[in-house]
Formats: sequence, C-alpha cells, structure tokens
Amino acid sequence: MSQPKVLLLGPPGAGKGTQSSNVVDEYGVDHVTTGDALRANKDMETDHGTPREYMEAGELVPDPVVDEIVRAALEDTDGFALDGYPRNLSQAEYLDDITDLDLVALLEVDREELMARLTGRRICDGCGSNYHVEFNPPEESGVCDGCGGELIQRDDDDDETVRERLDVFDENTQPVVDYYDDEGELVRIDGHGTPDEVWEALHEEIEAAT
Ligand code: ADP
Ligand code: ADP
Ligand code: ZN
Repeated sequence: MSQPKVLLLGPPGAGKGTQSSNVVDEYGVDHVTTGDALRANKDMETDHGTPREYMEAGELVPDPVVDEIVRAALEDTDGFALDGYPRNLSQAEYLDDITDLDLVALLEVDREELMARLTGRRICDGCGSNYHVEFNPPEESGVCDGCGGELIQRDDDDDETVRERLDVFDENTQPVVDYYDDEGELVRIDGHGTPDEVWEALHEEIEAAT
C-alpha cells in the first residue's frame, strides 16, 4: 500500500502538531509543517520581508513564501502529514495543483480550550517535542523527557498574539474548511478528548480512507 497523504486542518492549538507526530510514528510518513519550517528560517530575507515580522504579529506569512516551502517539501514524498497549510483559499488552490490528498481531517476544538492549550504550550529547544504545562507536562518541569533539552514558550503563544491568530483563522482559514467541505472531502473529528482518544478517531479515518 502506498503511504497515506493526510491533511490536518484546525485552528491554532487544535492538536495538529501532536496528531501529526502520531501519523508519522504509525505510517513512517514525512511531517510537513509550514510553522516549523518558518520558525527555522525566521530571519530569511524574502521579497516580502522576513517571516519574523508576520509571525510575531500572529499574521500570515505571504503566500509565495509558504507555497514554495510546501512545494519543495512535497516533492519526492510518498506519504505525509501536512499541518499548518493551507491557511487561505489561494494556498488551498495551489495545493490542489501540486498533490492529491487521501484524507482532509478537521480537528474541532472550542475557543476557550484553544486559549488554554496555546498559552500553556511549551516546546523543546533541542528536539521540538511538544508539551503542555497542565495537559501534557514533562516529568521534570522545564526539561524535555526525550532529550533533556530546555522547554520554552513560543514568542507567539502569549495571550494577545493567540487572540490575533484565532481571529486570523476565523477570517482566512475557515473558508479553507468550507472549501473542502463543499467538495465533500472534509472529515470532522472532535478534538476535545485526550490526545489518545483523538488519535484513535483519526487513525480510524486514515484506515478507512486508504
Ligand atoms: P497545533 O499544532 O494545532 O497548534 P499542538 O499539537 O501544538 O496544536 O497542541 C497545542 C497544545 O495543546 C500543546 O501544548 C499540546 O501539548 C496540547 N494538546 C494537544 N492535544 C491535546 C489534547 N487532546 N488535549 C489536551 N491538550 C492537548
Ligand atoms: P499553530 O499551529 O499554533 O497555529 P504554526 O506553527 O502552524 O502555529 O504557525 C505559526 C505562524 O507561522 C503563523 O501564525 C503564521 O504567522 C506562520 N504560518 C505558518 N503556516 C503558514 C501558512 N500556511 N501561511 C502563512 N503563514 C503561516
Ligand atoms: Zn527534546
């Protein structure tokens, strides 16, 4: 069987990164995430300035920059878990032109829970692993279980920028959700359960789609 091509949609904090890791572990596919790629290249000069200025404001980095990241990442992949892209309709149309998807899954989580998840999120400086101070704490506070790296808070996970990012989702990315829904391709997954419960539901959908 060929490897699954899975698109994970959902607002910031819905659990896309967390569930992408499960898809990667289960199927050995690539994790393609524009957020991580941009964070690794925050000060890259582009025709549109650097990613940093957009990211720190919680706004979308211009399409040509992210389209190119995704094009390059999908080239030569078999399966993948794509997370954080597309975030507006023009990115969705671009993606249509460059690949086919087996599953488009939307992780649905209400706004109050998203705020709590994002403001408590911590990321390992060393390996990028994802934690939460309350919902998924490391064994030793501030230290990564996996690699012993330092756990840090993302610059854009403060209260004000989180609100802006959630507004950007409603305005720009909700139309992407509607686009896949109209095509009859969207599968909705309740994202409120534990990470394991959400994975169980997602895993079932991937198995059914491939
Ligand atoms: P996204 O990639 O959609 O922004 P993440 O996977 O980074 O979301 O998750 C956001 C935060 O919420 C992280 O701190 C993560 O540990 C935590 N988290 C993820 N899934 C769940 C869940 N099902 N229940 C509670 N917390 C979760
Ligand atoms: P989260 O999953 O918590 O929403 P990401 O790591 O996916 O966060 O994205 C962080 C920031 O990177 C976004 O707020 C935005 O500035 C930028 N970014 C990531 N993906 C895209 C994209 N597809 N288009 C434009 N900007 C993006
Ligand atoms: Zn680590």
